[in-house]
Amino acid sequence: MPKVMAVNAGSSSLKYKLYQMPEEKEICSGMADKIGHEDAAFILKFNGEKHVETLPILDHTKAVALLLEALVKFGVVASLDEIECVGHRVVQGGKYFSKSAEFDPDTEHKIDILTPLDPLHAQAHLLGFRAFKKALPNVPAIAVFDTAFHQTMEEEDYLFPIPYEYSVKYDCRRYGAHGTSHNYLAILGEKNYGAKRIISCHIGSGSSLAAIKDGKCVATSMGLTPLGGVMMGTRTGDMDPSVMDYLATCTGKDVHELYDIFNKKSGFLGVSGVSNDTRDVEEADKSGNKQAQIASKLFARRVADYIGSYYVRLGGADLIIFSAGIGENSAYYRELILKDVEEALGLKIDYELNSKIRGKEALISLPESKIKVAIIPTDEEVMIARDCYKRIVDGRI
Ligand code: AMP
Repeated sequence: MPKVMAVNAGSSSLKYKLYQMPEEKEICSGMADKIGHEDAAFILKFNGEKHVETLPILDHTKAVALLLEALVKFGVVASLDEIECVGHRVVQGGKYFSKSAEFDPDTEHKIDILTPLDPLHAQAHLLGFRAFKKALPNVPAIAVFDTAFHQTMEEEDYLFPIPYEYSVKYDCRRYGAHGTSHNYLAILGEKNYGAKRIISCHIGSGSSLAAIKDGKCVATSMGLTPLGGVMMGTRTGDMDPSVMDYLATCTGKDVHELYDIFNKKSGFLGVSGVSNDTRDVEEADKSGNKQAQIASKLFARRVADYIGSYYVRLGGADLIIFSAGIGENSAYYRELILKDVEEALGLKIDYELNSKIRGKEALISLPESKIKVAIIPTDEEVMIARDCYKRIVDGRI
C-alpha cells in the first residue's frame, strides 16, 4: 500500500501529513515550527500520541532530516522507501498552472519567477521542496497549487478594469486562492447533496468565496493576492483603491507601509481593536464592545454581499457551504451571515441545529429552503494525497 506525504512549507514552519493510499488513511501528522530559531519545535502525532521536541532547527533541510529520522525512530515506517510520492502545497501558480504539476526544474523556475505575486510563500515552498529532494532524491514530487482550481474563470471574471496592457504585460489579474479547499468542497457538495451550483465559503483567518458550476470555478473573491475579497482576520479585503492614496496623504505613510497595514493590521484586528481571532471578537462583541460588534457585522455583510453576487453569477444556487475555521466552528458568524441573505434567497435555516454544529459535516437548512446550506470541514491535505496517488498510478500528473 503506497504511502504519500503532503507537505505545506512556510517561511518558518513545515507542516506534514503522511497518508496510506488509496484508503486516504492519515498515518501521522505534525510540523516543524519556528524554523530558523534555536528554540524551534518538532512535533509528530502518531498512534494517538504526540511527541514534541524543542531544539535548534536552523533551516528546512534540518526540519526534513528530523522528520525522516522520526518516521523510522517511532516506527511509522520500517523504511523511507515506503514513501512513494511527496506533494507540496504551493500558494501561487499564476497563469502557468491549471492543475498539479511534476515538481521538476521547469516548475521550480516558474514558482521562482512568480515570487513577486506571492512574496510571503513562494521561496518557502521552494525551500521545502529542495529539502525533500535532497533527502529523498529518487522519490517523485508534485506541486499542488492553491490557484489552479480558479484557472477556469472567464476573462470578465478574472480581469481588473485597469489599462489592458497592464493585465497582459504584468499578468496583473485575479488568481484567487484556497482553490484546493474549494475544489474539495465542490466534490463533496456534488457527491453528498447532488449540487451543481455551489457557493463555497472558506472562511477562516484568511477567507474566500467561490462560485462553482458543474465542478468548475466561475468566480472567486480573492484577487491578485489573498488581500482581495471579503474582510479577514487581519486583511481588509476589497476596498475603494483610492483609500491607499487618501491615507498616504493623511498619515504620511508610504504605499508599502500602508500595504503592510492592509495585510497585517486590518480586518477583524483593525476594526475591533481586540484580536484577529473571531473567538475573541465574538466574546468582546457579546459583552458590549462596540468596535467588536461593528467588526462582526462588517464581516458578515461582506460575506453576504458575495453570496448574493454569486447567486446571480450562477443563475441561482443549489448549495451554500460553510467551511474553514470560522465556517466550521462558529455558529454565531454563520447565523449573522445567513440572516443577511435568507430573505432574498428564500433560505429556511434550522438555527437551533446550527448552534450545535462545530467541526463536523451537517445540513443546517430545512427541507423547504430554496437552497441547501451545509457545513463541510475542508481537507486540503487529502487533495494533495489524492494527486500524489494519481502520480504513482499513472506515472505522471
Ligand atoms: P483557519 O485559518 O481556517 O485555520 O481558521 C482559523 C480561524 O478560525 C481563527 O483565527 C478563528 O478566527 C476562527 N475560529 C476557529 N475556531 C473558532 C470558534 N470555535 N469560534 C469562532 N471562530 C473560530
